[in-house]
Amino acid sequence: MQPAENTPLEQETTIDMKDIVALCKRRGFIFQASDIYGGINGFWDYGPLGTELKNNLRDYWWKSMVTTPPIGPDGTPVQIVGLDSAIIQNPEVWVASGHVGGFSDPMVDCRETKKRYRADHLIILIPNDDTPWLATIEDDENFLKARLKKVGKGKSLSDFTQKNLTEVELTDFDKILAPHAKTKGTLTDPKEFNLMFETGIGASQDDKVTAYLRGETAQGIFINYKNVLDSSRVKMPFGIAQVGKAFRNEVNPRNFIFRSREFEQMEMEWFCHPDDSQKWFEFWKSERQKFWQQVGLNQDNILMRDHDADELVFYSQGTCDIEYKYPFTDPDFGELEGIANRGDYDLTKHQEHSKTKLEYLDPERNNEKYIPHVIEPAAGLTRGVLALICEAYTVDPNRPSGVYLNFTPAMAPKKAAILPLTAKEDHVPTAQKLYLELREEFAVDLDIKQNIGKRYARQDEIGTPYCFTIDNETISDGTVTARERNTMAQERIALDNVAAYLRDKIKP
Ligand code: ATP
Repeated sequence: MQPAENTPLEQETTIDMKDIVALCKRRGFIFQASDIYGGINGFWDYGPLGTELKNNLRDYWWKSMVTTPPIGPDGTPVQIVGLDSAIIQNPEVWVASGHVGGFSDPMVDCRETKKRYRADHLIILIPNDDTPWLATIEDDENFLKARLKKVGKGKSLSDFTQKNLTEVELTDFDKILAPHAKTKGTLTDPKEFNLMFETGIGASQDDKVTAYLRGETAQGIFINYKNVLDSSRVKMPFGIAQVGKAFRNEVNPRNFIFRSREFEQMEMEWFCHPDDSQKWFEFWKSERQKFWQQVGLNQDNILMRDHDADELVFYSQGTCDIEYKYPFTDPDFGELEGIANRGDYDLTKHQEHSKTKLEYLDPERNNEKYIPHVIEPAAGLTRGVLALICEAYTVDPNRPSGVYLNFTPAMAPKKAAILPLTAKEDHVPTAQKLYLELREEFAVDLDIKQNIGKRYARQDEIGTPYCFTIDNETISDGTVTARERNTMAQERIALDNVAAYLRDKIKP
């Protein structure tokens, strides 16, 4: 949201999503899927650097969950094991989970503009006279203001009462001027819209069975809970973690990769005794908040939002969203991860539908039999990538690129670049030798061509924390220039010492 007239300070700090999207394309982070065919709405391809960034975030999550899980309240590490379940499962899974039938958003169509809106995302401005009731889009403040200016008959926001469309009587729909429409009364009744992607299993049209691409990774975990219990040595409480693709036929994919139709999730289901669930809920809220700080998100841009009782789905005993202040939600926040105390809802449903006993016999509690309760920290991997990029994007008019990505070393796709000053014979072999040494330990880039300024600009834009330049002095006295990304400060260090220098600089 760019104000019409900015003070110089605001110009420096206002981040425009268009610039972020352009950088992502220019430098090979994220491309529109099927680009050369004109794209396909809601799908994205990750380029060479976007893939590295996404893998770094995924691997860090995996490490923090499965490889070195946190220390629990009793002072010993908690137990979490990994899983990689199929994207397509028996369709009954999605019936049991409530996704087939229940996994839908109420939508309204505009008969005039043919646009479709999520009913719960429209707010209605109700005037105190016979001006039409204006429908606007809730999470788009610019749109709301522009709409008011255009069709608000000189009124300001305070002249209206606001309601959510879902609270408006159907009989009053005739009074509403839909967003984008010229005539009032064009909104249809809200209809349910199922988000599950259907596919057909089987080669012949006649015996094709309808199946679904998973709408979340979580169900793959619930249906393997018993397999994991029977095959590994975990005991209550424990977690199962999974990272992978999820698919939702979102009605209105938008805000770059924030709301896509194909995306990735990092979900962990934590199984525990019912009496302990609230304690673990609080534990995971705090661990997950720490995680997002560790990967580089500024605490000021993170909001831990506990759901009010009237917001909770009926089976949830508590939900807290970790929200991030994305440029397109600013000054508000958008969901990055949801942490929910789901009670025994999921396992009970799968026990009912699969007719398989999913109770736990607890040797530590006098062989008490119970269905464990579940705490679910469910994060978006691709939404996390977007948060990392937005957070890292730093405007700096004092450098040629005008911008750099301030990734933490752990998240940066490349930890260092090795740049021979010229493509001259003696610079290149020394650079190649250093590259061959460093690449054994770090993700590094060897960039030979172009003038050095352009190469620094490229490394700034892809967020590489350190550059090492090989020049004539390297040949004569065995030193290289080390350049730090954020300060652009340069110092001479020994060529032999580059690996130790980098190791020291980027250690967490
Ligand atoms: P929203 O309210 O934004 O639709 P949700 O509450 O339905 O999200 P969950 O079902 O809790 O989301 O999924 C867990 C996480 O998966 C979310 O916090 C988000 O990071 C991610 N996610 C969900 N839907 C999408 C999507 N369409 N595109 C990208 N990420 C998504």
